[in-house]
Amino acid sequence: MQECIFCKIIDGKIPCKKLFENEHILAFDDIEPQAPTHVLIIPKKHISTINEIQFEDKNLIGEMFISAKEIVKIKGVQKQGYRTIFNTNEYAGQTVFHIHMHVMGGRRMSWPPG
Ligand code: AMP
Ligand code: ZN
Repeated sequence: MQECIFCKIIDGKIPCKKLFENEHILAFDDIEPQAPTHVLIIPKKHISTINEIQFEDKNLIGEMFISAKEIVKIKGVQKQGYRTIFNTNEYAGQTVFHIHMHVMGGRRMSWPPG
């Protein structure tokens, strides 16, 4: 995916503040943080939205949550609490079409979200 900004980050063509990486997953700080902790966890496989996830991606998606668990420990927000968010398509405000889990913490958040 040549035009995908997150694929470019995975390929090292765009820099990022990397927090965690393995064969399947990359986690890095969001460039425009909306909370003191705002991390993006992405699969190295390009998947545009949750709508495109295939059954065979189930381990990969599971690994994103396992990574989230490690990230919140690194960031020290696991006890206070945090949000894990996937935005999908227009109404949810998705702007980058390579699935990513937002992990946000370090401040109290309201519900319902805007
Ligand atoms: P979404 O609106 O859910 O698609 O989220 C996309 C997120 O990617 C936003 O929070 C952006 O701030 C973030 N973002 C966009 N470009 C970069 C980048 N080069 N490095 C880190 N985060 C980025
Ligand atoms: Zn991509």
